[in-house]
Amino acid sequence: MLVLVVNAGSSSLKSQLIETDGKLTLMRCLAEKVGAPDASMKVSFAPDFDAVRCNVAGKSVAECLRRLLEVLADDPASPIDGLEGIGAIGNRIVAGGEFFSKSVIIDAEARENLQKCEELAPLHNPAADACIDMLHELLPNTPQVAVFDTAFHATMPPKAYLYPLPMRYYEQYRIRRYGAHGTSHRYAAQQAANLLGRPLRDLGLITCHLGNGGSITAVNHGKSIDTTMGFTPLEGLMMGTRSGSIDPAIITYIMRREGRTFDEMDAILNRESGILGVTGESADMRDVLALAADGDERAKLAIDMYVYRVQKAIGGFYAAMTRTDAVVMTAGIGENSAELRELIFAGLAHMGMILDKERNQVEGAIGMNRIISIDDSPIKICVVTADEEIRIARETANLVGAQ
Ligand code: ADP
Repeated sequence: MLVLVVNAGSSSLKSQLIETDGKLTLMRCLAEKVGAPDASMKVSFAPDFDAVRCNVAGKSVAECLRRLLEVLADDPASPIDGLEGIGAIGNRIVAGGEFFSKSVIIDAEARENLQKCEELAPLHNPAADACIDMLHELLPNTPQVAVFDTAFHATMPPKAYLYPLPMRYYEQYRIRRYGAHGTSHRYAAQQAANLLGRPLRDLGLITCHLGNGGSITAVNHGKSIDTTMGFTPLEGLMMGTRSGSIDPAIITYIMRREGRTFDEMDAILNRESGILGVTGESADMRDVLALAADGDERAKLAIDMYVYRVQKAIGGFYAAMTRTDAVVMTAGIGENSAELRELIFAGLAHMGMILDKERNQVEGAIGMNRIISIDDSPIKICVVTADEEIRIARETANLVGAQ
């Protein structure tokens, strides 16, 4: 099936056209700085993926998507003759709240519930909903599916998802931990089970999605029992530009001292903190590793802090589970940085997670799922390649195909 995957962010749009039978990507699109005067959108088609640039200055995310569809319908290099060639649309949705514990075909009831989730992710969900509405208007007969970042974590028990706040905040506003990166954690866990040659239901796994955003999940017998992200993706690990968990009193302290508004404080915590905040230079781990290699002290400190927080989270989940068979590394940093993996697992050998330094380094292994612990490591260490768009496309095709 030909599936259009739509991943709408607060100021970005990622989209791919995927042939799910052959797992082939036929079109890629990335729009960045959406809404700003210097917004840019690149669209490219298989096999060469030479980028077509579109002017999207000042447009909204849904308007960028509309422009993408025009290119898809009209460009001579497009793999489809008309938009009717699209069999289904898979929409990535950041927050599904307590309404959605699995992916759904978007009908009137689902659309209504999506509306109720908007306040849980006010930067992301409204943009995704606007895309769904625009697509529904343009292609009313093409089924649309919503795939949620939060759905995999719907199995967390109350002791993991509740905050120790007055219960009225949960009862009135549904303030609780929802987690994120669910599709990635679910996939990483399944791929690790395949690598270990054992059924997922028999395993205890700790899955580490370490990308620009980052979260770690305890997957017990195939179910998420806890994860580091919380009410929003701000909780948990130190990330590219997000602080991760800090003492909440710091927020009111800074607001009082500097007279900051709520929006400014949101921006400081979400966009100016984390690796960027500590280095003062970059949020990108590759840059930070290069800076550290040149002797930059802030970059070294940022790496130390990053690694330490990942180690503590893995250790915490080891304690939370009844068994741990493997730790799984995925996403940009987890998959690609042998250096970071070596630093992380150097501190975890005493828990029985013993890295094989050569397997960790194997050149040319990037993009390949593999085990990188020594043969007798009591807990295995796996690397799994994340490909969110393909997973969304397959989930969409499965749901629509089963209709
Ligand atoms: P996103 O959350 O935006 O999808 P990714 O999963 O692509 O992010 O991860 C982006 C992060 O991965 C960046 O910090 C980038 O520097 C890092 N990364 C990618 N390749 C490498 C590498 N070879 N070594 C170290 N870090 C890497």
